[in-house]
Amino acid sequence: MSLSFVHDALPMRVVFGPGRLADLGGEVDRLGLRRVLVLGTAEQEAALRATADGLGGRAAGVFAEARQHVPVAVAAAAADRARELGADGCVAVGGGSSVGLGKAVALRHGLPVVAVPTTYAGSEMTPIWGLTEDGEKRTGRDRAVLPRTVVYDPELTRSLPVGLSVTSGLNAVAHAVEGLWAPDGTPITALMAEEGVRALLAALPAIVERPDDLDARSGALQGAWLCGAVLGATTMSLHHKLCHVLGGSFDLPHAETHAVVLPHVVAHNGPSAPAAVAALGRALGVAAGPNTEADKVADTVATALADRARELGAPTSLAAIGMPCDGLAQVVDAVLAAPYANPAPVTRASLTALLEAAYQPA
Ligand code: NAD
Repeated sequence: MSLSFVHDALPMRVVFGPGRLADLGGEVDRLGLRRVLVLGTAEQEAALRATADGLGGRAAGVFAEARQHVPVAVAAAAADRARELGADGCVAVGGGSSVGLGKAVALRHGLPVVAVPTTYAGSEMTPIWGLTEDGEKRTGRDRAVLPRTVVYDPELTRSLPVGLSVTSGLNAVAHAVEGLWAPDGTPITALMAEEGVRALLAALPAIVERPDDLDARSGALQGAWLCGAVLGATTMSLHHKLCHVLGGSFDLPHAETHAVVLPHVVAHNGPSAPAAVAALGRALGVAAGPNTEADKVADTVATALADRARELGAPTSLAAIGMPCDGLAQVVDAVLAAPYANPAPVTRASLTALLEAAYQPA
């Protein structure tokens, strides 16, 4: 089949390197911002205050109430605080929860966001916002929420606990995998996805051994950047839909949910997405022999991915991360209710089998 695609690149300014947090003030000036609100979680309040101190008179205040999945009430409180303080922009420091809160303020008031990511979730590279109310998570795409500048400083990720480093890294791998079989994937996103997975899978074992290793932290953050950019540029499929429903309905931890579900979706979708499986296999260093049937190759790659996740100490079952057994049918209904792009057909029977396998693998 001849190549045919549209590649719509998102504008992104990336400042990357150990110690680059020191450039933040200059980056804020570059955007013409004078009074920024520094946002993040309560757990990272000390880092937020240090960031605000580093910004000096450019910091209007600190809001340390970011929470996973951006509850509507928290978004409203942050937006009100930004308005009260006369903030003209936000600096979001932290993982996807912090960046998500910055995006929620941008959505409401149009304030530009500068992101300083400290996990591998990748939200900083996407125009995707999310808001949760009454157990239901709404998401949408709006270029107004895409951070204007991203400062990646691997020093800041040294404190990310090993367990979360692993699951957050696998969350990033999931963005790349779905980008590889996305209906709007392009040669550029495929390159970024394969290299992003390779970089993360090379770095994570070193981080497990030596969480303080700056080279490994830099490699993982670079991989996360590439995988996040893939998420921002392509349409996600079954895997993200499943994790979205599981997280939104049962408040399961975001990164862990991705880590558990991904190998099962690769096994399900793989036979219908041989080019994606081949790229993932290369990134994993798994070679299937010539003339191997597509479903056997997919099975080999999915198993290798599951083995790698287990070796890294990631959780391997939905039961282990708090999923109630009697909730599986509700997830199946919710996932089947809204159609979305996916390389393989999804039926009630195949989805139930996938979830049962993910719930408590044999
Ligand atoms: P998170 O932001 O919730 O962080 C998890 C915990 O780790 C928090 O307590 C945080 O304070 C702490 N933490 C973060 N970095 C740390 C560090 N370097 N040192 C010590 N502690 C640190 O988790 P996450 O997985 O990064 O983000 C999950 C959220 O992001 C979910 O709500 C998810 O839906 C969203 N997300 C959105 C997108 C998007 O494109 N919109 C993409 C990925 C994730």
